[in-house]
Amino acid sequence: MKKIFLLFLLLNGINIFAQEDFYTRVARQIDWNNPNARINPYMTVADALLLREWGIYHIPNDNEKRNIMCLADRLGGVLNVYVYGNPPIVISSWIRPTSVNAGRIDGNGRLIRDPSSRYNGMNYNASVGGASRSLHISGLAIDIVDRGNRPLTNFLLRNQSLLERQLLWMEDENSATTWVHFDAGERSTSGRPRGRERIFRP
Ligand SMILES: [Zn+2]
Repeated sequence: MKKIFLLFLLLNGINIFAQEDFYTRVARQIDWNNPNARINPYMTVADALLLREWGIYHIPNDNEKRNIMCLADRLGGVLNVYVYGNPPIVISSWIRPTSVNAGRIDGNGRLIRDPSSRYNGMNYNASVGGASRSLHISGLAIDIVDRGNRPLTNFLLRNQSLLERQLLWMEDENSATTWVHFDAGERSTSGRPRGRERIFRP
């Protein structure tokens, strides 16, 4: 009887330690050294980690990987509907670290750390004019190009319920004028105009 009780305590202890975030577990399934590895049907590891203004990559920590998988998953649910009959997805910005851990593609096509890069420790977010508390910093926000007649913006304005279902936020279309900013931030939906509960002004 005593042994069974000890076993119970032990298993319970293991269970408590196993209570980690779902996306932390998902992130562990991804080969982060493979730039072409898919993080949703439309996006790759390279898409999330490329620092486009500097032409280098950021090697993410566990929390950044978790955030990228969370956003990629939620976004996948929107793009599943959007992709038919619309222009291809072009990302203009995803993660913008405040202290870059530089990466490069090696001779075998693997994404590896680049300890000799002059960008190590530099603030990419500040360099591209990002807000000091931007959700891009930790990988929880993405900008997708949306010029001309703004097909993605108009699609989202017509299909607000998709944002709601996927727990995503979109920046007001009058401040993000040539792109769509999506993020997986925590905000209150109360007090917002009807039908625009998932749209925020920066
Ligand atoms: Zn943005």
